[in-house]
Amino acid sequence: MIERQHGKILVECDSCEEVLDTDTSDFAEARAIMQREGWKVRKIANEWLHGCPDCGVPT
Ligand SMILES: [Zn+2]
Repeated sequence: MIERQHGKILVECDSCEEVLDTDTSDFAEARAIMQREGWKVRKIANEWLHGCPDCGVPT
């Protein structure tokens, strides 16, 4: 899931406690950082799920 802390985007793994601190408030930039770091995103129904490099694509 995506959280905002002090305007900056944090990405939390939906399978474990891993958090990616993107240090940006820009969503496109945050997404680019996620891809670079090996995070996975999957849309299920209307919800975006996020997976850290260890967990991979959320199920
Ligand atoms: Zn994880």
